[in-house]
Amino acid sequence: LYDLTGKRVWVAGHTGMVGSALVRRLSGEDCTVLTVDRRSLDLRRQVDVEAWMSGNRPDAVFIAAARVGGIHANDALPADFIYDNLLIGANIIRTAHQVGVEKLLFLGSSCVYPKLASQPMAEDALLSGPPEATNRPYSIAKITGIQMCQDYRRQHGCDFISTVPTNLYGPNDNFDLMSGHVLPALMRKIHAGKRDRLDRIELWGTGAPRREFMHVDDAADACVFLMKRYSGSQHVNAGVGQDVSIRELAELIADVAGYRGEFVFDPGKPDGAPRKLLDVSRMTGLGWRARIGLRQGIESTFRWLNDNPGALD
Ligand code: GDP
Repeated sequence: LYDLTGKRVWVAGHTGMVGSALVRRLSGEDCTVLTVDRRSLDLRRQVDVEAWMSGNRPDAVFIAAARVGGIHANDALPADFIYDNLLIGANIIRTAHQVGVEKLLFLGSSCVYPKLASQPMAEDALLSGPPEATNRPYSIAKITGIQMCQDYRRQHGCDFISTVPTNLYGPNDNFDLMSGHVLPALMRKIHAGKRDRLDRIELWGTGAPRREFMHVDDAADACVFLMKRYSGSQHVNAGVGQDVSIRELAELIADVAGYRGEFVFDPGKPDGAPRKLLDVSRMTGLGWRARIGLRQGIESTFRWLNDNPGALD
């Protein structure tokens, strides 16, 4: 058991959706949360990361910093996705060892699993086949981060762990249509469709792929839970254990928003992986489960969007 009381806890990536949820979650713990602005520290620069970490001496680290994006962004910027994510992970993990960080949690992504992994995807499906082509660079960078935590544990005895969260959504998500993920994109399109009284809304792909969605506050809670309770080499999945088709997701968001028009799917746009559902039995076995239902999470995210209209700029 790792006690956070009195610890200096660095949330790398605190302005992002996951990092900001971690900062909210950690405000309920008796610890000092450290953050650093991206203008003051570029996590891709090794000597700068070393200087900042040796100056600020975190006891515990959450690596929630990453270059992230939806299916289009991953496809359009493959070099940025592999370079930025590899360096962020490698720099922080190695420096954490050098400066004696006691506990570190690296966040992976469900796209680390093979495109055709059997569903639901258990932890040992990792590296059992090739990842989906549209997010292969991101996937390989995230697999490397998971591998590095295992390697620093094995060679140096570092208590570095990883989690693989499912698709996340919530406050501070990226609502941009070209670079964001499907759930915020659909919230934006349906919100605009209702406001502009559109008869039809165009969505990408076939609508048949299935995805699992977890509210980011549940993800942050899972991360803190693992930081306190888990010390093991293998990464642990964090999800809700249920998935929906993209069409069902669109219908649910339309129902919450009160949109009554129809959806047309553009099969010229990529579907990505046919299904991504995590096997969360390991996490439930450790005593953790998600609490926020999908409808409830979409409702609260619409309320957040209403209070933070700048997120749509
Ligand atoms: P993925 O989970 O890595 O495949 O990435 P996304 O979250 O971007 O997309 C998930 C699925 O939603 C894919 O099958 C997309 O084709 C589909 N989709 C449908 N409409 C949209 C949209 O407007 N934006 C995005 N990003 N995906 C969409």
